[in-house]
Amino acid sequence: MVEKRKDVPARYATAQEIQSQMEYTSKIRAIVTAGEVKKACVVTYGCQQNEADSERIAGMLRAMGYEKTDKEENADIIVVNTCAVRDHAEQRALSITGGYKHLKAKKPSLIIGISGCMVSKKESGDRIKRSYPYIDFTFGTEKLWQMPEILYGVISGQKRIFCPNEGKPITMEGIPVLRENPYKAWVSIMYGCNNFCTYCIVPYVRGRERSRRPEDILNEIRGLVADGCREITLLGQNVNSYGKEFGGECDFADLLAKICEIEGDYIVRFMTSHPKDASRKLIDTMAANPKIARQFHLPVQSGSDRILKAMNRNYTRESYLSLIRYMREKMPDIAISTDIIVGFPGETEEDFEETLSIVREARYDMMYSFIYSKRSGTPAAEMADQIPPAVTGARFPRLLEVQNEISLERNLVWENQTLRVLVDGRSKNNPEKFSGRTDGNKIVLFDADDSDIGKFVNIRITKAQTFALIGEIVNDGR
Ligand code: SF4
Repeated sequence: MVEKRKDVPARYATAQEIQSQMEYTSKIRAIVTAGEVKKACVVTYGCQQNEADSERIAGMLRAMGYEKTDKEENADIIVVNTCAVRDHAEQRALSITGGYKHLKAKKPSLIIGISGCMVSKKESGDRIKRSYPYIDFTFGTEKLWQMPEILYGVISGQKRIFCPNEGKPITMEGIPVLRENPYKAWVSIMYGCNNFCTYCIVPYVRGRERSRRPEDILNEIRGLVADGCREITLLGQNVNSYGKEFGGECDFADLLAKICEIEGDYIVRFMTSHPKDASRKLIDTMAANPKIARQFHLPVQSGSDRILKAMNRNYTRESYLSLIRYMREKMPDIAISTDIIVGFPGETEEDFEETLSIVREARYDMMYSFIYSKRSGTPAAEMADQIPPAVTGARFPRLLEVQNEISLERNLVWENQTLRVLVDGRSKNNPEKFSGRTDGNKIVLFDADDSDIGKFVNIRITKAQTFALIGEIVNDGR
């Protein structure tokens, strides 16, 4: 099992540390911009937090003088931002990175780095150092802010640098960000997790919880709204425990209320919530502020109290359901989604039936379900009574069947109603149509044109399907 790191308190980067990283950025910029245009490619695996981190990596690379490219074969530097949540994700990142060996053979000046959860642990960095001689550098999630210094060491010293998460986690404000989408932005409000759910590797690779200061978050959001951003998603592994280190001065509900005071036409979403920390105050704040999307992602993971205990989730089926009832009482139109793990070690048929019954009771709009997969280093991987694939494989479709029926019923209520939708662009699955998301985060497909991208429009829903709504624009939504 991976050892729990000591609970080292986080701190903010000092002015001197910030200055020093800026100086490294300038030195690299002088080298990079001296000759032909140099290009940087950032490849991302994993969750929204990783996507947000990649936008910061890309922002730093741009500040260093690199132009962005999406093609690894055109790049002068490749940074692979990895995920460690599942063994499969780690193996995939390694195998893709393995393919870069031939790129380096063709272009020996190519610089290759790996960042993120997979290289946050020292052992993983050591393995890369030994087995992947063409990788020039690694840095863990807590060392992202030091990328200019690491990269300068590689470029100037022609040496390999491996930098796992060690020591005090440091939060640095003002890192440049290269956002993928001008209308939708991720804003990390906190980092790390304290919960140690027994199946999860995150607390071992992203460290203990630490919140950004409210004024830093508010300033970032003010800037985004002023630049025309229409949707802001606040990110944290457990946003409900935001602000614990501020001594009750600003909890997550307070932060949301302050954000909603920023003038402008935009909506705020957040993820992810932990049911043990989601408060009634938060639900009241949402109900009182129309800028907060009517969407709540509340991962239940299992409907069985016995399994919830084994998962170390620290809530019960009943406390969870009472939260759902309170949400629906305060916001009858709220869309609720969840995560469920099928086949956690020791899950009996009775436990699984409890999961089916909580799905029927909670009546989710959407569900993200996963078959339990062993994550080495976590307590659950060592538990006796791992469930055979034949059993999990048989349970999984039964769960989907129950949820799909409910999803369709929940979508059918929107037929013939008009919903405000932020237009994302052409649908990936159906390029004839445009797609967007409702306040409840439901996908809507409709006819539009490119000039509608990034705007709110009103859409009359003509047909409901299990995973999407179909509609037509009835007027400009602003
Ligand atoms: S709350 Fe649990 S599942 Fe979520 S990141 Fe923390 S440990 Fe992992």
